[in-house]
Amino acid sequence: KANSAVTADMINGLSKQSFPPCMQNLHRGLKEEHHLKHWGRLQYGLFLKGIGLSLEEALRFWKSEFTKAADMDGEKFDRQHSYNIRYNYGKEGKRADYTPFSCIKIITTNAPGVGHYHGCPFRHSDADLIEQKMNKMSFPKDKQTKVMEYIKGSHYQLACREYFKAAHKTEEEIDLMHPNQYYEESQRLING
Ligand code: SF4
Repeated sequence: KANSAVTADMINGLSKQSFPPCMQNLHRGLKEEHHLKHWGRLQYGLFLKGIGLSLEEALRFWKSEFTKAADMDGEKFDRQHSYNIRYNYGKEGKRADYTPFSCIKIITTNAPGVGHYHGCPFRHSDADLIEQKMNKMSFPKDKQTKVMEYIKGSHYQLACREYFKAAHKTEEEIDLMHPNQYYEESQRLING
């Protein structure tokens, strides 16, 4: 269910509005470092493909961020990174149509190490950081408590669902199996 009109310029705004915490982390990491390591590029790149970013727009998006780094110019970017982006879109290698990662896959594989931004924050981040973020966003205390309880019980997707409800000021129970589902439900609530 791709929304076909997403362009590179829209990602910043959409990330604040509708991205799940895992993708907000990746977006922030990319903005800060002008780089993401392999698993981050994969997790974020496939998510962006899933929200409807075309290959051309994906190349534009990654190139504009990566070339803000001192050691990266357009030519080097084309040489080092455009293949992998085209690969994600099935234009290179096996030409498979790679699908964005589900929550379970993100939660259970490739745990992030130092300097990595991929993974699921409810599973892989310090719980204090999540609490800080919820405070900053003025989530109601009872919602915050619920999120923290779910994290303690290792129910990461339920924690994310409570987070969604607080972030969107809704009591609607959404199914949450996939970061792209978080995005689509958010857009549905915001745009009606
Ligand atoms: Fe992302 Fe899923 Fe974790 Fe939510 S539960 S932060 S959508 S991986």
